[in-house]
Amino acid sequence: MDLFIEMINRFKPEYAIGFPQTIAAFSSYVKRKKRILGGCFKGIILIGEQVYAWQKNLIEGVMGARVFLDYGMVEKAIHGGGCEHADAYHFIPQYGLTEYVPLQNHFNELVGTGFINYAMPLIRYRTGDICRHIRKGCTVCGRPYDTTAAIDGRLCDFLVTADGQIVSVHLPLDYRVLKHIEGFQLYQEKAGEAELRVWTRRKEGKHAGRLLHEIQRCTSPLGRDLVYKIVAMGNEHTRTQTKYSVVDQQLDMRNFLQ
Ligand SMILES: [Zn+2]
Repeated sequence: MDLFIEMINRFKPEYAIGFPQTIAAFSSYVKRKKRILGGCFKGIILIGEQVYAWQKNLIEGVMGARVFLDYGMVEKAIHGGGCEHADAYHFIPQYGLTEYVPLQNHFNELVGTGFINYAMPLIRYRTGDICRHIRKGCTVCGRPYDTTAAIDGRLCDFLVTADGQIVSVHLPLDYRVLKHIEGFQLYQEKAGEAELRVWTRRKEGKHAGRLLHEIQRCTSPLGRDLVYKIVAMGNEHTRTQTKYSVVDQQLDMRNFLQ
């Protein structure tokens, strides 16, 4: 981390781009260790994962620049992001045509036809990404683009109750519950049941219990029907440098959505 801080202060980049988890972890380190960043940033672009308000606030506070949300994919079917005034994702019509396939509980799957992928054009490509309310046009900047406040995640980022209802696991957690927790993931292979896998710095189970309570608060009321089991993961690490997903979903979600 200190090497990154040194390189940033030497190189003075105007923009940084990365996964929210990673940049939030970096920002947390800078804040905790009271390190100085050179104040060079004009913007921080977050890609690839759900973004929580606490991450955005932490990153903006430490990096001293606005966070820009960005949604896209290597298949180049849909691209979206905030405008100069608002954080809502504006789907860029010059880049691709975005359509919305209604699923249960007002969720929509994003379906894209890209205009810039000449090597392998994709028509009505089902992205597996989910969002809820779509607005026609941005009321703040006036662009006539479809917008949505949040991407709720991928199909596999949801949990399923015993009666087949899907539960969004976009968790606006009170992040104080994560103080002694190194990492967590929800694992599901049977509808109605989920494991809360927790990596903690301390042995006591109360931190995991508090986290579970907070997860249940965030996923209420539908998530109340789920039966959870807490599993302490000890030193076993499954986390990698790649995208982090809150849910390790083993069920075929398309069976539950249509
Ligand atoms: Zn706008």
